[in-house]
Amino acid sequence: MGTQGVNPAQQDGERAVFQCEVCGTRRVATAIRYDDLGYAVCPVCTYSHGP
Ligand SMILES: [Zn+2]
Repeated sequence: MGTQGVNPAQQDGERAVFQCEVCGTRRVATAIRYDDLGYAVCPVCTYSHGP
């Protein structure tokens, strides 16, 4: 339990789902933005999920 790691992209059925590790927001991965480095950016808290 609670050992899913830090990978923001999770497989939910056949759809990749982004889940923000900061605020817990979940979105379909194709519906979120990525920064210039290609890291997912949370649409709610704007946290960039870089390394
Ligand atoms: Zn967030």
